[in-house]
Amino acid sequence: MKLVPYWLDTRTPFASAAQGPVEGRADVVVIGGGFAGLSCALELARRGTDVVLLEAGDVGGLASGRNGGQCNTGFFHDYAEIMRKYGAETARGLFHSYNAAVDEVEAIATREGIDCSFRRVGKLKLAMSPAAFDGFRKYVDLVNREADPEVYTVPAKDIRSEIGSDMFHGGVIYPRSGMLHVGRFTVGMAEAAVRHGARIHTDTPVTGLVRLNGHRHRVETARGTIEADRVVVATGISAKGPFGWFRRRIVPIGSFVIATEQLPQAMIDSVIPNHRTVTVAKGLGHYYRISPDNRIIFGGRAQFAISSPKVDVSSGDILVKSMKEIHPQLRDVKIDYCWGGMIEATRDRFARVGEHDGLFHVLGFSGSGVQEATHMGTEVARMLCGDTIANPYRALPWPAIPGHFGTPWFLPLVGAWYKAKEIMGR
Ligand SMILES: Cc1cc2nc3c(=O)[nH]c(=O)nc-3n(C[C@H](O)[C@H](O)[C@H](O)COP(=O)(O)OP(=O)(O)OC[C@H]3O[C@@H](n4cnc5c(N)ncnc54)[C@H](O)[C@@H]3O)c2cc1C
Repeated sequence: MKLVPYWLDTRTPFASAAQGPVEGRADVVVIGGGFAGLSCALELARRGTDVVLLEAGDVGGLASGRNGGQCNTGFFHDYAEIMRKYGAETARGLFHSYNAAVDEVEAIATREGIDCSFRRVGKLKLAMSPAAFDGFRKYVDLVNREADPEVYTVPAKDIRSEIGSDMFHGGVIYPRSGMLHVGRFTVGMAEAAVRHGARIHTDTPVTGLVRLNGHRHRVETARGTIEADRVVVATGISAKGPFGWFRRRIVPIGSFVIATEQLPQAMIDSVIPNHRTVTVAKGLGHYYRISPDNRIIFGGRAQFAISSPKVDVSSGDILVKSMKEIHPQLRDVKIDYCWGGMIEATRDRFARVGEHDGLFHVLGFSGSGVQEATHMGTEVARMLCGDTIANPYRALPWPAIPGHFGTPWFLPLVGAWYKAKEIMGR
């Protein structure tokens, strides 16, 4: 079993990184080479802006290359609660943003000729109990009225046509959701950005930022210093570098994934007959899908811990057990890959896109960044080019998380709370 993400192991490495020192000036410096930073740099370069992207490691090497590869429409929050909290218009704007985001991913892949197996298969969200399915029905009624008439429920009596398991009591289908090979997508965006004129420095952590005036900054890195008229922070969990203000507003939460060996088509069809992306509505929720080469990619939170090789393996064991409980037909399959990553969670699990202290930021996608980080990175680029953009996150408040000074010491407590909630809900 390989302890590396399937996506990183099966992509062609990025071959066009800038060589030599970081120096001179740029119209825009983008910090971070995940979906958010890459899509931003790509759109800026396409529009003729002089853009430099600085990435601490490899493009798509962290969350953007370590996720479940689901490209889903619809947020996972309770729609009624979001309406109560933020009003009908903001709730609709947030919901529509995810729909637009899947369109954005497809448009980028098509326009730039990125071979990333994008498929619009639809998402299936599964109910673990009759009560959960009742909740789904109310949710879908509201979503159909307010935001998306295409979402629909599948009752318990028909759910076997969607999932090869006796464990579920119905589900919801989001027909416009999709999936893709995220490793090939990130490299494809990076190569396209360079083709359009961007310079991308990998292995170049930003270590300091000095505000010169307005939006202008001097950006210091391990490989030299560059001046920029504007800076976009797209650093995910922002674990390193001069990003303390953002760090205090984001909690890194571990999430873990396994990939089976390649499976015969009949077995794949017996697990997910319509090849949709699948999520399970449950405290420590699972998400799974089929890979382009017929593996099951199965993820979940497994345990509240920071990803490390040891934790990834123990989480992988938990995931294997869950996967085989849900789908006994997989009892004898081997696991080829096991990995973990850190989700950049804000307190309300919505992203934040805007400006603070002269820096633009596109952060906090909280487990939905495959599509939404790609979309909002592109939108920020459009905004910097003078376009008016739809930014449903603009008005959301973003206070620091009380007691969070940059190290998530409280994660085990959060884990215990979720576990208790799950046990009580059984
Ligand atoms: C296990 C797992 C499963 C997930 N599954 C899904 C899924 O199925 N669907 C979905 O939509 N979302 C999923 N997500 C979430 C999704 O992957 C993220 O929301 C998304 O990748 C965030 O993209 P990003 O560009 O904001 O951040 P990142 O991908 O984290 O990119 C930020 C980059 O900034 C760089 N950086 C940080 N600090 C510095 C610095 N000082 N200098 C230079 N560079 C720096 C980092 O090296 C990194 O490459 C999952 C996440 C995980 C971890």
